[in-house]
Amino acid sequence: MTITANDPSRKSWVAISKESDFPIQNLPFGIFRTESNPAPRVCTAIGNYVADLAVMNYLALFDGLEIDNEVFNTRYLNDFMALGKITTRAVRNKLADIFDANNKDAKDLSWHFLHPMDKVELLLPIKVGDYTDFYSSIEHATNVGTMFRGKENALMPNWKHLPVGYHGRSSSIIVSDTPVKRPKGQQLPANEDTPIFGPSRLLDFELEMAFIVGQETELGQTVPTDNAEDYIFGMVLFNDWSARDIQKWEYVPLGPFLGKSFASTISPWVVTLDALEPFKVDGPTQDPQPLPYLQYNGKKNYDINLEVLIQPEHGEAKTVCHSNTKYLYWNNAQQLAHHTINGCNLNVGDMCGSGTISGPTPDSYGSMLEISWRGTKPVSMPDGSERKFIQDGDTVIMKGWCEKEGIRIGFGEANGKVLPAD
Ligand code: CA
Repeated sequence: MTITANDPSRKSWVAISKESDFPIQNLPFGIFRTESNPAPRVCTAIGNYVADLAVMNYLALFDGLEIDNEVFNTRYLNDFMALGKITTRAVRNKLADIFDANNKDAKDLSWHFLHPMDKVELLLPIKVGDYTDFYSSIEHATNVGTMFRGKENALMPNWKHLPVGYHGRSSSIIVSDTPVKRPKGQQLPANEDTPIFGPSRLLDFELEMAFIVGQETELGQTVPTDNAEDYIFGMVLFNDWSARDIQKWEYVPLGPFLGKSFASTISPWVVTLDALEPFKVDGPTQDPQPLPYLQYNGKKNYDINLEVLIQPEHGEAKTVCHSNTKYLYWNNAQQLAHHTINGCNLNVGDMCGSGTISGPTPDSYGSMLEISWRGTKPVSMPDGSERKFIQDGDTVIMKGWCEKEGIRIGFGEANGKVLPAD
């Protein structure tokens, strides 16, 4: 089925500014509710508005698709995604027709289903099943490896042969604008041999993207790189909050645990892979060539601009990083092929983080650990204070958008304010 919703010449009857993340060519999916109707429903974003898909379906605007209203009158997008890509693509194409500048009938009905975005509450869009976090940026892995093991041993011997990952915790995945309480835990002070307990002093963000699985597999089944995108519904911004001091003491030999599992923030909008299709680019050259099951054809990376700001409780925000998803060494298709090569099954709603996406220059590093180089290069804030890591009262703001030939497809924001430990 052609993705007619991506037509770059299409205009909408909704007034949409050039800087908006949500032109008619985006049409991401989310879950919202309003004060007058607190039941959560499926929605899309267009300009500064949220459109209620449950009401649109009730008004027979998805005529011919025959989708049960329960799929839209629900708390999470999982049932909608499980309809399969042919149906979800048809819904998105239909949405583009509904919002098309020529569709005066839909415009006349719009008071039933459009809500100003600043008047609604956007909820966690996915019931996340299993969450896996990869480590797929060569710049990030090299920076962290250099800090902890020296330049010569920066990358472990396996790194260029497989997308390294670990199984994370899904219960603490939260939606943008949910505050994050500073975690407490064990830490080993420098030059000591017994740990102390207390609030993390080295709280950090990790700038990542995550993809959401939209189609399940059977136990024992593998997904080749050529088909991987059929199993991915879309992508979100992802802040994999990290307590570096807790992480450093606990991670040997089994990997990240409590230093990561206290919170992970995602954006409220799932931008479909369909909408991102025009923004595919070649990835970095992989040398050595990976094993056959990890080889792939065509463009599998995405040109998504990423930005991180720190907003102190009082005063001006500071941009601390500009990066791009295109830097990732291992792409989504390779990650999914690797994830399933042992027969591990996928469920609708599973989520895979990319790993911190650092670029080649210090202004593109995707964590404070790298930006401040373990605290040796503090960042100056507009109010004269310094940041080595994240302080109480700071809000970390992540943004992501693609831009090409006058079309901007954005993800909105993934924000989180850090509250003091109890
Ligand atoms: Ca991570």
